Amino acid sequence: MNNLAIQDEFAFIDRIKPVRTFQTGLLTGIGDDAALFRPVQDMEQVICMDTMVEGVHFTTDTMSPSQVGYKALAVNISDIAAMGGIPTFYLVSIAIPKKWSEADLLSIYDGMAMLANKYKMDLIGGDTVSIADTLTVTVTVLGVVEKDKHLLRSNAKPGDIVFVTGTLGDSAAGLELLLHKGKEFSFSEHEKNLVSKHQYPEPQVEIGRTLSKLERVSLNDISDGLASEANEIAKSSQVVITINEELIPYSESIKEVAKSKSLEYALYGGEDFQLVGTMSPTDWQHVKKVSDQSGLPIKKIGTVSSGEPIVYLYRDGTYYTIDRKGYNHFTK
Ligand code: ADP
Ligand code: MG
Repeated sequence: MNNLAIQDEFAFIDRIKPVRTFQTGLLTGIGDDAALFRPVQDMEQVICMDTMVEGVHFTTDTMSPSQVGYKALAVNISDIAAMGGIPTFYLVSIAIPKKWSEADLLSIYDGMAMLANKYKMDLIGGDTVSIADTLTVTVTVLGVVEKDKHLLRSNAKPGDIVFVTGTLGDSAAGLELLLHKGKEFSFSEHEKNLVSKHQYPEPQVEIGRTLSKLERVSLNDISDGLASEANEIAKSSQVVITINEELIPYSESIKEVAKSKSLEYALYGGEDFQLVGTMSPTDWQHVKKVSDQSGLPIKKIGTVSSGEPIVYLYRDGTYYTIDRKGYNHFTK
């Protein structure tokens, strides 16, 4: 390998190789031709991949190298969470332009390790190549879920309630602040909360696991905004979804900093990495009780009915259709 920003590819791989491992099924991680692990009995394997490209998914003006690493892994863990699974292993393919220093590259891996330690995941391999201009990180995450307990977008049925976890729009509001003021700006406490939601999104693995214990749940993670994700569920399940605007949960910080734009951010901003899904009213009674008692952040925002797949937003007595694109497409 030549033309790389790093002096010695093998020394680099040695530095990113984890010093300890968590998963007992791991037989060989980094260092051989391929990784080798023993699958957990009676579990299904879940696998996903996401790529972050400099200039497209992040810029060095809004994200530190460590945050880029954290987020590249977080977005994948979020996909595993949306299947009801437990993340176990990850692999990283990194395409490095000359302008990135080795220290910054190692920071990317430190950012990933923050989450990997939390979820007891092992880095088991990857690939290192050079690229002209834009750093590109592709992360693959493997996970497991109990047989027949995975949560599909196609599981929604008429009569279900629609729920979301956490609060929506925060990440988009944070990105807007970062784009206008830069990551070094001295933000207020509320602004900091929003910026942090953009730079350190929290995948909702625990709630995904709780939901996987229920009879039938449809689930999707919110990477592209509520409008897009709700439409995906409506389409996959062939149902009508109606969201009550008044019930969309917002953080105190977004209400303070960007109240007038909060609906737009929730619907079209994306990158909240919360979960949206549907369940039967009977299951909802149970979940609501648990949520009221333990503070599990999950809220009902709408209902599912039969008909050609479409998503409605109910607001002040009027139904609007919302498609997966922008606010301009808001039509009566
Ligand atoms: P090979 O030619 O067998 O693919 P490599 O030199 O590409 O070998 O990789 C050697 C080992 O290091 C393999 O276990 C590979 O999975 C791992 N590896 C290479 N690049 C990375 C990376 N960027 N992140 C994590 N692991 C990596
Ligand atoms: Mg290789």
